[in-house]
Amino acid sequence: MSDPKPFRYDTEVPPGEKRHLRYQISETYLGDPVEIPVTVINGEHGGPRVFMTAALHGDELNGVKVLQEVSARYDPAEIHGTIVCVHVANVPGYLAQQRYIPIYDLDLNRSFPGRDSANTAERMANQIYERFVRPCDVGIDFHTSTRNRTTMYHVRADMSNPEVERLARSFGSNLVLSGEADAGSLRTVATREGMPTITVEMGRAHRFQPPLVERALEGVESVLAEYGLLPDRPVAWPGWTRVVANASDKAWLRADTGGLVEMQYGDVPLVYADDTICTITDHFKKREKRVAAPFTGLVIGVLQNPVAAPGHPLCHLVSVRDETLAEIERQIDAGEFTERPWS
Ligand SMILES: [Zn+2]
Repeated sequence: MSDPKPFRYDTEVPPGEKRHLRYQISETYLGDPVEIPVTVINGEHGGPRVFMTAALHGDELNGVKVLQEVSARYDPAEIHGTIVCVHVANVPGYLAQQRYIPIYDLDLNRSFPGRDSANTAERMANQIYERFVRPCDVGIDFHTSTRNRTTMYHVRADMSNPEVERLARSFGSNLVLSGEADAGSLRTVATREGMPTITVEMGRAHRFQPPLVERALEGVESVLAEYGLLPDRPVAWPGWTRVVANASDKAWLRADTGGLVEMQYGDVPLVYADDTICTITDHFKKREKRVAAPFTGLVIGVLQNPVAAPGHPLCHLVSVRDETLAEIERQIDAGEFTERPWS
């Protein structure tokens, strides 16, 4: 058990203090400060430091709700270590309720670790990274699907890295898509620099989805248990886990024709090889193109805007088989299978 230490950003939060603060990372055209809301819960007891970030994409709101709850839920007296919540990372995008930083559409999540002599996004990223990410040991970055799509609740993590695998497994989601993230993303950069980080993808943009928020809170608590910040709590086990590492086990099905899209799968997102997933018809109902499942799997992402042009992504499918398939089928039969990426 390590001694409790102050958490330093510019100033410091002593052990035993929970501090809600606003930290300036840029300025508006008016010269007013652009400030990110941050909560630091520095435990009375020493231990690892966990950072959590939300709204790196400004319209992805589920994680914002998760961090509001996390920051209210835990007290320094019970925490062995430190929790750092960056409630809204991309404030300009959040104010405009759009993914990128207006007006040049800069992607904050391709701008890490950033530099203080670079463009707006890289300067902002650099402030967030140096003050609130680098002092930590592990991290969780919350996202949702891009607008006009939805995604099944899942984790993205590089499972070839044992430290990342520990974090991903302890978060306890059923589905993990394994692989490196894009260059300049917070997950890639922090992991490479020794702070294992996972991305949580949950549902849709522009929404609070309470069942997903609740699951993420359980995931956070399980991570805090695994790393000893909450030493008396159990680590969650999700019942079934599918780690998808090979490109051949996942597919974005795309439209080959333009037209009106109608999803055809049933009430649950499990499809069998050659099942019809959707049809694309022309306006005269003269031409119909059937899109079939290339393998048995879960529909983990779907388009919500029901029109498509050639090349448009229609749905994201990951394969399941063997015991995982059997367990999912059992849960469906028992009415226990609750995954609905489109809800
Ligand atoms: Zn995102």
